[in-house]
Amino acid sequence: MTTIKSTCSRCGDVKLQPMDLALELDPAEDSGVYRFACPTCAQIQRRPANARVVSVLLATGVPYEVVRTDLITESEISRFAEALGQDADFISMITSTT
Ligand SMILES: [Zn+2]
Repeated sequence: MTTIKSTCSRCGDVKLQPMDLALELDPAEDSGVYRFACPTCAQIQRRPANARVVSVLLATGVPYEVVRTDLITESEISRFAEALGQDADFISMITSTT
């Protein structure tokens, strides 16, 4: 089971499963935002996700939504899909950004 480490602003380090997170992707950008409900305090947390974080989270099976649907194209979807699996070292990467 994949475990994703992140940080709650109230509780500090938390461990999450991919399905606990949701990515908000802007197809006009390489970056986005991911959000999760803290497993300890249930507070919704939102964190910026750069292109690398986005690709890693997608690779672990995190569900996503596109926040600017008017701009999405097949090529954008393909670009995200191509990013899958490029970097499996997601735990150290995510913790290094917090
Ligand atoms: Zn918390």
